[in-house]
Amino acid sequence: MLDLAVYAVSPKASRGRRVEEAAPDGRTEFQRDRDRIIHSTAFRRLEYKTQVFVNHEGDLFRTRLTHSLEVAQIARSVARSLRLNEDLVEAISLAHDLGHTPFGHAGQDALNRCMQPYGGFEHNLQSLRVVDILERRYAAFDGLNLCFETREGILKHCALKNARLLGDVGERFIKRRRPSLEAQLANLADELAYNNHDVDDGLRSGLLNIEQLSEISLFARHKKQVLDAYPKLDARRLVHETIRRMISTLVIDLTNQTANNIRKHRPQSVEDVQKAPLLVAFSEPLARQHQELKKFLRDNLYRHYQVCRMTAKARRVVNELFDAFLADPQLLPPQYQTNTRGDKPRMVADYIAGMTDRYAMREHRRLFAVDEI
Ligand code: MG
Repeated sequence: MLDLAVYAVSPKASRGRRVEEAAPDGRTEFQRDRDRIIHSTAFRRLEYKTQVFVNHEGDLFRTRLTHSLEVAQIARSVARSLRLNEDLVEAISLAHDLGHTPFGHAGQDALNRCMQPYGGFEHNLQSLRVVDILERRYAAFDGLNLCFETREGILKHCALKNARLLGDVGERFIKRRRPSLEAQLANLADELAYNNHDVDDGLRSGLLNIEQLSEISLFARHKKQVLDAYPKLDARRLVHETIRRMISTLVIDLTNQTANNIRKHRPQSVEDVQKAPLLVAFSEPLARQHQELKKFLRDNLYRHYQVCRMTAKARRVVNELFDAFLADPQLLPPQYQTNTRGDKPRMVADYIAGMTDRYAMREHRRLFAVDEI
């Protein structure tokens, strides 16, 4: 039995699936969504897609898959404390990055630039496209036929012109409504997860060092706590003990502040949540410290010259693949040449967006290296 708060999304009140299906046996509608996401092809590909470091750069760095699992873990624990719908939160968290291109943001920016004359490319919208159209495994429908609430939660942001084309899931952008608390939570858990794991990956890669990070209040404070208790701790354990405390502080703050916001606005239904301001939030001081960390990572990790070299290469691979396929769609594998997924540029974008990092590099070699077949 689910013990849900009045402001949580109830599976019984779901607006349903695009293609009607019999109710699932022994699990809720949102558990079924979660299960379909885990069994999808796009989900398995996340293992070989970059978060910050390209997949082949090291075996221990986060990939989109481990990132998504960390997001789900964080979001679920907050959801349980607040009596939100854990299954829905988990489904949204696991699906939130399904539309990511190879090579992280460099890949998405490159593809977006290539697609400018044809409606652009946005990974968040692409995640919805994956679950609505691109997965082809069920007999009765294209996509995964997920519940409305899961689809709406996946669509974090959306330009008005796209919202109008999307029908029901685009409505809230036109009416300027907030998403469900479950969607708000998955969104903040995403940020919380990557800010912390990027510190870990940044240190592990040697692109960041502990001294630099000690300028950042969130890191410095928790590092001091660890060193006060364990003055002789080795660097690896120090990093982990610090990061786990940072995550814990942020999760507790997020839970408490959100509970306060809920008490203040007293939503009695999901409708009330949609009309209220964003309720899932950090407290003012923690939000500031979290932003400080985010800015630090942007300046020192994402713009590190070694990361930039890799992303420049990634951009080139995506650009060249796009140009080659668009100029000659016959180069596409036959299943991508059928015109049922959209116009030609969109077909090419779907094909490239679905690639893993190493598949994109292999495809690039196949097209451009004369001695490769
Ligand atoms: Mg993410």
